[in-house]
Amino acid sequence: MSFHATVLTLYPEMFPGHLGHSLAGRALERGDAGIEAVNIRDFATDKHRSVDDTPAGGGAGMVLRPDVLARAIDAVSPEGDTRPRLLMSPRGKPLTQARVRELAEGPGAVIVCGRFEGVDQRVIEARNLEEISIGDYVLSGGEPAALTLLDAVIRVLPGVMGNAQSGTHESFETGLLEHPHYTRPQLFEGREIPAVLTSGNHKAVEEWRQAQSLELTRERRPDLLGPKD
Ligand code: SAH
Repeated sequence: MSFHATVLTLYPEMFPGHLGHSLAGRALERGDAGIEAVNIRDFATDKHRSVDDTPAGGGAGMVLRPDVLARAIDAVSPEGDTRPRLLMSPRGKPLTQARVRELAEGPGAVIVCGRFEGVDQRVIEARNLEEISIGDYVLSGGEPAALTLLDAVIRVLPGVMGNAQSGTHESFETGLLEHPHYTRPQLFEGREIPAVLTSGNHKAVEEWRQAQSLELTRERRPDLLGPKD
């Protein structure tokens, strides 16, 4: 198995979710990737099997307990496990295609899905969790974020994408957004495919695509052209 993910969640039935279909589904079937979902609640010890408690200092909502979560992490990732430990979190570093590629080259990941208001800060520190965000908005739980991260990782694993060429021009891979795509029919509601694309001139096609990429990126995501941090 090249990439093995263990997901800690209160909703293991949400996995593999959409990743059981299509490209990722076939990768899981072949064993190119594995996803194991483990219920955090299995590591609760009191008779109510409680995993959360009220926030210290007051306020709304509940917080995932550090002791229960630490036990779950230790059980699925004993000493010697070299996989990075990720915590899906809106406060995390935004996920990038570069981090996705890095993760895909590694042995896998242990992924913690938060719920409620989030998790106790002490377990983040004590278990060295890397907080990763999938965007500047708030989800009700980390599960869709974990599925999103895993989707992005699995599709770049060796042999997963059918056409080896596919992926090399894609958005973010080159630091730019991808050029527009066209396919048959030649005429759609009065709109033609740009002539250069059907000219048979590969060099002209390549130049057109580059120019389109650059223009789109300038217009929509000028931040991608700015200095890297
Ligand atoms: N009170 C928190 C939000 C908690 S949302 C705050 O204001 O920062 C509940 C859980 O959903 C989080 O613990 C996290 O695991 C997940 N989540 C929500 N938004 C996310 C995002 N943008 N990226 C990754 N995970 C997210």
